[in-house]
Amino acid sequence: MYFDTHNHSQFSFDGGKTTVEKSAAAAIERGLGGVCFTDHYDFYVPEMKQEHENRVREEFDVPAQQAEIDRVNELIAAGAFGKKAAKKFRLFKGVEIGLYETCREQIRRFFQEHSFDEVVASVHYLDDTDPYWGSYYKGKNWKEAYGHYLETLLKEMKWLNKDFDIMGHFDYIARYAPYPKESVLYRDFPGLFDEILRFLAENGKGFEINTKTYQAYGLRTPELDRNILLRFMELGGEVITLGSDSHESAHIGNKFEYFAQYVKSVGFRRLGHYENRRLKMVTI
Ligand SMILES: [Zn+2]
Repeated sequence: MYFDTHNHSQFSFDGGKTTVEKSAAAAIERGLGGVCFTDHYDFYVPEMKQEHENRVREEFDVPAQQAEIDRVNELIAAGAFGKKAAKKFRLFKGVEIGLYETCREQIRRFFQEHSFDEVVASVHYLDDTDPYWGSYYKGKNWKEAYGHYLETLLKEMKWLNKDFDIMGHFDYIARYAPYPKESVLYRDFPGLFDEILRFLAENGKGFEINTKTYQAYGLRTPELDRNILLRFMELGGEVITLGSDSHESAHIGNKFEYFAQYVKSVGFRRLGHYENRRLKMVTI
């Protein structure tokens, strides 16, 4: 039974195509064990993005999101989605926190004020740019662009430390990149990967397989490098999570069977998810 640890609902600025209830129904239909809504919380939005998309805030109303999750969980428990779901399916309260150096104080305060089942730590913006809109890559070759993203992710995760559970989409930077080099590979950044994977392993954090990354973006299709998972295992890493990063209910649990078998073929036997910030492991 799979748990989707990375999803967006109507509470995310870009999650307008689904709702907590619709996503729950889709996940139950697909036989998942649970879904965590990790709506976006970015304190900082680059100016270029503000111009392109006419928005200055990417935060959500945490009490409103959590109340809605409670409401739908009550419906599920009361049998509105069937007897099996009432026993075996649950929604979890999460957040995908956007790491950004100048927002550290706000982020720290945010975690003092709110509690979650699970926290995904991600880098969406760096160097005052939004990679989605391209300018991050200008003047950088693929190695500089990917390497600097990994360095930034590592630096901010180390800083956030106890306040997160899962490293979000480590190769997000490959999704919208302009280079023929489609994927972020272990052999290109062995030192950096070792530092990242060792940090996760030593602190019991989750390595997310964000299945949304492994699809076609124009003519490019990033792939997950199994050497990264192998190295994670060698360094003592145990926690792998599956996240569809869905922004619409049709994508919930996307490619989970494929990636679960992939993880198994590397040698891992279990997948992780979180309840009340506690790690749960389920056999594949
Ligand atoms: Zn994200």
